Amino acid sequence: MSDGKPCPCMQTHVDMMRASVPKNDPLRKIECAACGKTVWVNRETKYCFDCETRMVKDNASADNNDGPP
Ligand SMILES: [Zn+2]
Repeated sequence: MSDGKPCPCMQTHVDMMRASVPKNDPLRKIECAACGKTVWVNRETKYCFDCETRMVKDNASADNNDGPP
């Protein structure tokens, strides 16, 4: 049994894997639209993590305040 030659389909797979690897860093620098802080994010957002968390909390408490106590 000889393992000298790589299987052609393996080689294609390797090429595809190599092509799919992004060259640039997934992190992007943004300026938070709420507090103006410069933060690094790896997803689509306009706000830093702090503001995003606060907004989610505000929304949640607003929903809670909707009903009678
Ligand atoms: Zn912020």
